[in-house]
Amino acid sequence: MIIGILKESGSENRVAILPAEVVALKKLGIDVLVENNAGERAFSTDNAYAEAGARIADRKQVVSEAEMLLSVNPPVYDDFNSFRDGQILCTVLNPVENRDWLEKARLHGLSILALDLIPRTTRAQSMDILSSMATVSGYKAVLEAASLLPKFFPMFMSAAGTIKPSRVLILGAGVAGLQAIAIARKLGAVVEVFDVRSAVKEEVKSLGGKFIEVEGAKEDITAGGYAVEQTEEFKRKQQELIQQRAIASDVVIATAQIPGKKAPVLLLKETVNSMKPGSVIVDLASSTGGNCELTENGKNIVVNGVNIIGKSDFPSEMSSDASKMFGCNIINLLKIMVDKDGRLNLNMQDDIINGTTAVHGREYISQKVKQMLNTK
Ligand code: NAD
Repeated sequence: MIIGILKESGSENRVAILPAEVVALKKLGIDVLVENNAGERAFSTDNAYAEAGARIADRKQVVSEAEMLLSVNPPVYDDFNSFRDGQILCTVLNPVENRDWLEKARLHGLSILALDLIPRTTRAQSMDILSSMATVSGYKAVLEAASLLPKFFPMFMSAAGTIKPSRVLILGAGVAGLQAIAIARKLGAVVEVFDVRSAVKEEVKSLGGKFIEVEGAKEDITAGGYAVEQTEEFKRKQQELIQQRAIASDVVIATAQIPGKKAPVLLLKETVNSMKPGSVIVDLASSTGGNCELTENGKNIVVNGVNIIGKSDFPSEMSSDASKMFGCNIINLLKIMVDKDGRLNLNMQDDIINGTTAVHGREYISQKVKQMLNTK
């Protein structure tokens, strides 16, 4: 099989595969074509790709020769002029936001493997791009907050007196939240954490965070380990407690999400207005509406002296390691899709392949994508 690596458009700095992962693809018996300058913003030159065994070509040639194309984000609409029936495209789809793009891809006869639909199962853990990118985001969110905060994170005992450690409040202890706890603790902050899933309590404690429990959380074992929407009574109780803890905090890292739904609003305008001037809120849920009522997606704003960070492109800012993790996840996925001679075998009986395939043969395949788009 020939795989083509596309250069990303817009402000995206990542690339789907770095040169080291080209070597791994070659070991699987796959030929690799890389678009000119595809790795430039992830600090990998065309020469490095060529030395790893890839061929470098212009976009037109990559699209026309490759059986499968890899990209971080869905390619631009213009590319549909060059895509052909039966071609496979592997990308982070974001099906709800890219509904029209996906429908066009389906009608065009493309097969779309959506990397954000990979099931969150133990077998698929090594392919889980959402977890990899959430790890990057949780890490970077804390560093961003620490660099904006006009205070130290750790406690300092100096000749000039004792400086108290900063207090960090983390909303949501999924992959990003747990990473944020670990980094904030390593920097010496005191960390408090809210989540609606009681299962994370022990993990939070083992990372050195204090879990703040709100009684009456609704949990659903059929939700596959994810959170579900809460009752109005619970939301009111939770908001009161969050308000108390946020006012006492210097930093809030907000990561709470409910798959396929708008993010829960946990930090109200009046809470922000009562926070200390100079405090920082990093809202990693900004692209799905934000956990803070005042967050503006993609923008950093200051309200009443409080910094509210609504930029959510941290993986793109850490293009080198984020691309490394992205590529390794893709290779692990490809290992279950190619035979020993590097030929593709899209076995739809395999739960990972089936769950990841958004469209194939002009049909919607993945149950999750059907639910999200409400199609049959
Ligand atoms: P996510 O991004 O969907 O949500 C982040 C966190 O926000 C979750 O912990 C969720 O419980 C929490 N949350 C939602 N609503 C909230 C509210 N109102 N108040 C406070 N917190 C709220 O989560 P994720 O990081 O994608 O992980 C979700 C689940 O998937 C976890 O159980 C995780 O362990 C599991 N997971 C499994 C695998 C795997 O096995 N391959 C990989 C990654 C994650």
